[in-house]
Amino acid sequence: MGDEKIPLFSKPPVELNPDLCSNHLVESDVFIGLGSNLGDREMNLLQGIAEVGKLPLSRITALSSFYETEAVGEIDQPDFLNGVLRLETGLTPRQLLSGLQQIEAGPFRRVRSVPKGPRTMDLDILLFGSAAVFEDGLVIPHPRLHERRFVLEPLAEIAPEFQHPLLRKTISELLKMIKGNQRVKKIQEG
Ligand code: ADP
Ligand code: MG
Repeated sequence: MGDEKIPLFSKPPVELNPDLCSNHLVESDVFIGLGSNLGDREMNLLQGIAEVGKLPLSRITALSSFYETEAVGEIDQPDFLNGVLRLETGLTPRQLLSGLQQIEAGPFRRVRSVPKGPRTMDLDILLFGSAAVFEDGLVIPHPRLHERRFVLEPLAEIAPEFQHPLLRKTISELLKMIKGNQRVKKIQEG
């Protein structure tokens, strides 16, 4: 009597795949940028959103409008359609990146032929709560997020008061500070 061990944690309500569970199962608000400039761009974004929604331990909690945006950089390529979604997830940043890369490579058959070139689907982790990650092949917050109007415009729609964890400015402040006039046009619904 008295030595019965009381389990500290009850069994999770669903069977979790241990390969996809982080050790620290902390739910974080994550923002993901989506972009497409090949094929039926709107269908691509919609399908991309559906695929992200199917990731384990994750659910989409907000979605921006879609924006038609001029491609930046040296390569001459078609305009993009861009959007941003908010995801609540128990995945680690690495697990999430790998899930996003599987979506790019799988349903969209994206091949990395020309770096920064046209693509059916680009999925970038923009922010992962207040985390900062500097690893090989994974940098969060996304290092160019604050200089890209096509990211900040949709992000400001769903997270204007979210603070960039390193720059210590909100998304709307960053949008006001941005230089250059890259063409970014919100697609009107209906
Ligand atoms: P782009 O910079 O145009 O998005 P890619 O989608 O081809 O180019 O990504 C190039 C590499 O960027 C990927 O192999 C990935 O490992 C790396 N990467 C680093 N940080 C991130 C991030 N936060 N989100 C997505 N990819 C990232
Ligand atoms: Mg990318």
